[in-house]
Amino acid sequence: MSQQDGTFPDIAPWASPAARTRIAEVAADLADLWGGLSADGVARTVEGALREHARQFDDEGIVLYAGTNAMSGAARRAAEAPVGGRPSMGWPGEKYQAGLDRLDLLEVLTPALVARLVGARFAEVRSHSATMANLAVYTALTEPGDTIAVLPERAGGHTSHHAAGAPGVRGLRVVELPYDVDAYDVDLDALPGFLRSERPRLVVIGASLLLFPHRIAAIKEVVSEAGASLLYDASHMAGLVAAGRFQRPLTEGADLLTFSTYKSFGGPPGGVIATDDAALAERTSDAVFPGLTANYDAGRLAPLAVTAAEILDDGGAYADRCVAAARSFASALAEEGFTVAGADRGFTDSHHVAVDVAALGGGRAAMARLAEAGVYLSAIGLPWQRDGEPDRGLRIGTQEVVRRGLGDADLRRVAALMADLLLRDTDPGPVREAVARIRRSSAGL
Ligand SMILES: *Cc1c(COP(=O)(O)O)cnc(C)c1O
Repeated sequence: MSQQDGTFPDIAPWASPAARTRIAEVAADLADLWGGLSADGVARTVEGALREHARQFDDEGIVLYAGTNAMSGAARRAAEAPVGGRPSMGWPGEKYQAGLDRLDLLEVLTPALVARLVGARFAEVRSHSATMANLAVYTALTEPGDTIAVLPERAGGHTSHHAAGAPGVRGLRVVELPYDVDAYDVDLDALPGFLRSERPRLVVIGASLLLFPHRIAAIKEVVSEAGASLLYDASHMAGLVAAGRFQRPLTEGADLLTFSTYKSFGGPPGGVIATDDAALAERTSDAVFPGLTANYDAGRLAPLAVTAAEILDDGGAYADRCVAAARSFASALAEEGFTVAGADRGFTDSHHVAVDVAALGGGRAAMARLAEAGVYLSAIGLPWQRDGEPDRGLRIGTQEVVRRGLGDADLRRVAALMADLLLRDTDPGPVREAVARIRRSSAGL
């Protein structure tokens, strides 16, 4: 065995060439640790990596990645990791284990708070991720072999909507909704005929990039006529939706709402399913427990409750700042010479901004170049992308920089630094220093 002869094992011989190259690099750095393995050595190495990551990413980086956030001080204080190792199974009053009564309040308070925020009667908060929440919805509403209709990936359809992800696990047939590029939404004219011929049980909207609201009421009408249910995945929009901004998916007609709790919502990692329909609530909740989750992780529910209460308290001010920051950042990027999506509609109605960087080598290359200078974000497909074309876009979310206290002037400066790097081909070294200075002087978290 390679473990015994001291060389580091090949942990994923099936991974892509790029992944294998990076894994081999990391494994080479770990060779000494592996050769003289000790608990102490591993603890020190792991702590060192976390410390260095926090310095580079949290303290000196500017995080524009849309799928993350920084938890508030109070939420961080409430996050008690060790309690997650205290399995707690079943509803309060019928726990499999004894001695957990003090934690019952987490399971009663958290869903009530989250449901109130998103305007739902019921919220299931025990899922460990939105992917698992989506799988629970598929489990509750479909049988293997059924069809679901989802947004194409270039229009922000997420892996957990597509055959490579959770629907594949459930054995579902996945078809792509017709999409209207100009409307940034489902093609309403083509939808009725499409649903008649494909006959999906479930239609999934809500995307990883959402600049403008879906026309939910119009979509719902057609989906209902076709006898299907409508799921709105608000993973990215949850912080806005919870604040009563952007759109109210359940009020506007979605049957179910799922979302991640750690993106714009700003809480710990986790997933939520919310609905007004008691029968759907029962079926999806049963799919979460006992279906897909045993221990729900009590350590996660405490910061989730605190985060939800903070959103309630704040009255939408944070969400409004995120949207305002996205609009002014988008116009600053356009003034710098970038091709920013949605220019004819004020760029965005959410905290997302999308930049088309196909002419600059594509999203992945631009992402890597920005990361060298301490600006972190991701590539994304754009609706006008051709089949098989690599991701054209950069996706930006303002939810973290707003929490960090970056103001309009800071963001204009960041837009200029991004232009230096990507449009004027400046050396990343000095840009990185300028980025760290902006971050260090920011007034927030
Ligand atoms: C990020 C994302 C998810 C997955 O969330 P996890 O909690 O990380 O599983 C699901 N759906 C959409 C649309 C997303 O953008």
